[in-house]
Amino acid sequence: MNARDDKQDGLRAAVSSYCARVGADPLLVQGAGGNASWKNGDTMWVKASGTWLGEAQRADIFVPVDLAHLRAAIAAGDLDVVPRALAGSSLRPSIETLMHALMPQSVVLHLHAVEVLAHLVRADFAAPAPASAPWCWVDYHKPGAALAGAIAARLREQPEAQIVFLQNHGVVIGGADVGEVEAILASLLACMRTEPLAPVAPAGAEASTMATLTTIPDEGIQQLALDPRLYKRLRKEWALCPDHVVFLGAEAACYADADSFVAAQTIGADARLAFIAGVGVYAAKDFGAARTAQLRCYYDILVRQPSDAVLTTLSMPQLAELLDWDAERYRLAMAR
Ligand SMILES: [Zn+2]
Repeated sequence: MNARDDKQDGLRAAVSSYCARVGADPLLVQGAGGNASWKNGDTMWVKASGTWLGEAQRADIFVPVDLAHLRAAIAAGDLDVVPRALAGSSLRPSIETLMHALMPQSVVLHLHAVEVLAHLVRADFAAPAPASAPWCWVDYHKPGAALAGAIAARLREQPEAQIVFLQNHGVVIGGADVGEVEAILASLLACMRTEPLAPVAPAGAEASTMATLTTIPDEGIQQLALDPRLYKRLRKEWALCPDHVVFLGAEAACYADADSFVAAQTIGADARLAFIAGVGVYAAKDFGAARTAQLRCYYDILVRQPSDAVLTTLSMPQLAELLDWDAERYRLAMAR
């Protein structure tokens, strides 16, 4: 094994170890969200689509892609380019691969980190002036080619940026090595941290007819129905982040009380996730870990909002393109 291979193995081990640590913290990573990459000559190793960062040391989650090919496409303005997996890998590169190729640094980390997201969803977002590295801001765009195009345009203006804030989405951090990325993230989290609201006590009320739904065993998620401040936001400020909407839908099914919920079931309302004010949050039995992680992330963001914060939600056209609604469904939604 030559020196270059040694360096490559060392980088892989360092990135994997860091990803496993980051991926174990639900305030940093939710389910399969977030991704990481490192570059080695004309190859970029990037997290495969659908894999979990937390599994980085237990499973093969990185796929090598042709970086020269991606950079040539980017230079030609082709942001719809499909990354080429190398070495016959059967894994599919993350849909956010282009974001990693656009960053010039060796190691790139992209997270939907709660402490950062809590700021990124505010209408009056003001960067807390992280002194650790130069940063830039990118308005909300649909993840994929549209977002990559917006990041590319911003990086042409600010090529020195090592922190890219993505409105209503997350943050991208680039560094020369894992240590630098880790230091930047730590400083960001330190200056963006918000003290969460204190939880309210459960009211002790029980919804009587919940045959099809079961209570979600997460005290934070239950607060979305129990805390009137969060419930009010939930009704008006549901569509905050793209993953949240993709996993949990464009709107929340809210009920003023258990009787309203039961009445809605009798007229055939689709009940997979229900928020019953003062009672609790209920979901279908097959709701699953990925959706639960998204819902918990949503709670974690809301509980960090000052009472006067105005949040930016995804607009109806943004929801439509995110959920691939056809024109008819979009028109119906708009007419509501
Ligand atoms: Zn993302």
